[in-house]
Amino acid sequence: MTNVITPKSFAARARGFVAPNHAYSGEVADVVREIAPVDPLYLLWPERVADCAKMFLTQFPGETVYATKCNPDKTIIQTLYRAGVRAFDVASIGEVRMVRKLAPKAKLYFMHTVKSPEAIAEAYKRHGVRSFVLDSMDELYKIMRATDLAQDLELFVRMALPKNSKAQIDFSTKFGALPYDASELLKACRPVATRLGLCLHVGTQCTDPIAYKRAIKVASKVLRASKVNIDVLDVGGGFPVEYPGSQPLPPFSDFVDVITSTLKAEKMDAIPLMCEPGRALVATAMSLVVRVEARKGNLLHINDGTYAGLFDAGAQVRARYATKAISFNGMQRREQDLTPYRFAGPTCDSLDMMKGPFMLPSDIVAGDWIEIQTMGAYSQALRSNFNDFGHSGQIIMKR
Ligand SMILES: *Cc1c(COP(=O)(O)O)cnc(C)c1O
Repeated sequence: MTNVITPKSFAARARGFVAPNHAYSGEVADVVREIAPVDPLYLLWPERVADCAKMFLTQFPGETVYATKCNPDKTIIQTLYRAGVRAFDVASIGEVRMVRKLAPKAKLYFMHTVKSPEAIAEAYKRHGVRSFVLDSMDELYKIMRATDLAQDLELFVRMALPKNSKAQIDFSTKFGALPYDASELLKACRPVATRLGLCLHVGTQCTDPIAYKRAIKVASKVLRASKVNIDVLDVGGGFPVEYPGSQPLPPFSDFVDVITSTLKAEKMDAIPLMCEPGRALVATAMSLVVRVEARKGNLLHINDGTYAGLFDAGAQVRARYATKAISFNGMQRREQDLTPYRFAGPTCDSLDMMKGPFMLPSDIVAGDWIEIQTMGAYSQALRSNFNDFGHSGQIIMKR
């Protein structure tokens, strides 16, 4: 308990509790017991964000652009900027306004392929956005009209990719132009753009570097067919994070190696690169602390669920989480005696269930907290307030 800084005045148990400008240090269990949070509580380690930023900035041979949607938290955006990430992928006018406010000098890439004319106009005229992505001719005309035929546009053509599984070709995704259309779009954009890019996105949590190789080969074909020179190749996001229960991942350097060697083989290595990671920059930076409200056998009713911070668990996108029990009374729970549990979320919807299995001590009881680790990506960002159970707090942790 010695290391824990505790301002006694904190109304720590209040809903929506946030401790501005206060950083905690010490054992997570001690900090949590001290605060005794009633609502789900996020712990954020900004230094871990900075570490991940450093990995990209030193190892990725091009510009690193943070995909804001993954976690638009203010501290995260500012930490990334301070760590040297100076460009942000934004997808809505709300994200444009927010990042512009937090990082006034940042470069913003408006990377949604379908934008409203109003959003394009405001981004261009009020927020200095020059970079826009598109995957159709209509969107190109829309961008030109909404910016009053601006002469300083940076345009990015997003291409569709084969489905990211085995060798099966499936171009029917939500975003991106098919190879022929992508080539035509590059031709159409070239005379209009001061900077022209080609974008791909292999899909999120892409555990196999080969996917990037396959994608770059498609890009190479698109480029050759277009006979147009581009100024930048955007290899997207999708860089994976090691979650518990998943296969050990190849190191980040393997992804970089595959990307650079494929570019070389395709004679594309003179083209400047950029990437748009979300998950890989922020996933490890946060834990989510939830409380057990009731135990029924191996079913734990907890105070967060699939409509808020644990969407992934319900969708079985991630079957497993690294969990740690924190006893409310300081009594040691039997960590050596782990039992598989299911979770029930707090809302009245019977779909709000998480199969897990979540491995926790057999003697866990109502009132205990559970620290769920590696929750920096797509948890906070996805919270809804269904049933008024969306409230959560956040504290900053020192390394
Ligand atoms: C979501 C998204 C990303 C980030 O994906 P991660 O898997 O979180 O790295 C990058 N680019 C685009 C276009 C996206 O939609």
